[in-house]
Amino acid sequence: MKKIFADFIFDGYTIRHKSALVVNEEGVILEILDEDKFHAKEAEYYPGLICPGFVNAHGHLELSHLKGKMPTGTGLLAFLRGVVTLRDIDQSIIDEAIRLADSEMWSEGIVAAGDISNKMDTIITKQNSKIKYYTFVEAFDLWQPAMADSFFETYKKVYDQYGDLPKSMSPHAPYSVSPDLFLRINELNNENSIISIHNQEVQDEDLMFLDKSGGFISFIENFGFSMNHFSPIEKTSIHYSMKQLKPTSKQLWVHNTMMQSEDIMSAMQWNPNSYFVTCPNANLYIENRLPNYQNLIDRKAKLCVGTDSLSSNWRLSILEELKTIQKYQSYIPIEEVLQWSTLNGAEALGMDDWAGSFELNKKPGILWIQNFKKLNDQYLFEEDARVSRLF
Ligand SMILES: [Zn+2]
Repeated sequence: MKKIFADFIFDGYTIRHKSALVVNEEGVILEILDEDKFHAKEAEYYPGLICPGFVNAHGHLELSHLKGKMPTGTGLLAFLRGVVTLRDIDQSIIDEAIRLADSEMWSEGIVAAGDISNKMDTIITKQNSKIKYYTFVEAFDLWQPAMADSFFETYKKVYDQYGDLPKSMSPHAPYSVSPDLFLRINELNNENSIISIHNQEVQDEDLMFLDKSGGFISFIENFGFSMNHFSPIEKTSIHYSMKQLKPTSKQLWVHNTMMQSEDIMSAMQWNPNSYFVTCPNANLYIENRLPNYQNLIDRKAKLCVGTDSLSSNWRLSILEELKTIQKYQSYIPIEEVLQWSTLNGAEALGMDDWAGSFELNKKPGILWIQNFKKLNDQYLFEEDARVSRLF
C-alpha cells in the first residue's frame, strides 16, 4: 500500500487540496484521504497535481510517418489533398513511426486511445501496447453510391483483421460517405459499437449540404468522380450524418470547429450519448481556428480531447492540448478540461470501468503534473508544466 500526497488531486470530478491518494502496489485505487485523515510523513509528497491517466479520444496512429511533412495553416481541403498524395511510403518507415508514436503517447500519460484506421498497419503495435485502443476502422467512398459496395468490402477486410481488438466500422465524414455506404456500415455494427465521425471541421462541409457550394464538390470531381447525383439537404452537414447513423450507439463527433448551438442541440436530442471531441492543436495546425467551447459548455455537452495525428500536430500529448485550450480560451475552468481528458474520454470509449477517475478498484493510471498551481482562485498549467507517470 502506498499513500500519494499532493498539493492538488483531480479525482475525475473535482480538484481536492492536500489530500492523499491510497493505492496498492499495482496502482489500484483504494481511497482518497482528506488532509486531517493522514500524517504527511507516512505519505510520498508530490508538488503539483496528481490526476488519472489521460484518454486520447481521437488519433490516427497510421499517419505518424507524416510528422512535419504537411505545411500548416493551409485549410482542410489542401491538407486532405496532401495526405492522399503522400501515402506511398516504405512500409518499414511507417511501422517504426507507429511504434514511436505509441510510446510517445504512453510517456505523455495516455492510458487509452480511440484510433482511426484505414489500414492494418497498427495491429501489431496495438496488440503489444500498454495503451488500450478502441479502433474505428474508417470507411469512405467519396460519395459514389455505385462504388459503396466495393469500398465496403475493402474496409471489411481491414475490420476482420483487427480480430478481438475492440473496434467498430465508422464513417469518415459526411462529405465523403454516401447513404449507401452508411447503410452497409450500420448493418455491420451492433448496439455496442461506438461510432466516430469527423464533424463540421470546415465551413465548406456545411456549404455542401446547405446549397451544394464550397470546395468539396470540386474536391471530389478532381478525383475523376461525378457529383451530379448529389442534392443538398438545405441543412448543415451534421443533419445528414444524423439521418444516416443510428442513435442507439455511443457517438463521437470529432472536431466540431464550425458547430453552432442549433447543431449541438440537435445532436444531443438525437442521441444523448453524444460526445464532442476536440483536437485544438490540430485545428490550429490545419485551419488556425478553434471551436466555440462556450456553446458546447452552455448545452452541457460532454467534451473529450484528442491529439489527432502527427500529420496535423507537433506532438501526441494531451497535456499540450490542455495548455492550448487554457491559452486561447482561458475562461474554461481547468477542472472541466481535466474531466474532458480523463473521465469523459473513458466513458466515450467504453473504458470507464477501469479508467478516467480515482474510484475504488479502478486502475486508471496515476499521473504527476509538475508546475501546476492555483493563482487568484484559478488553477493554471504553467508553460513548462510536464507529466510523469507514477503508475
Ligand atoms: Zn481525424
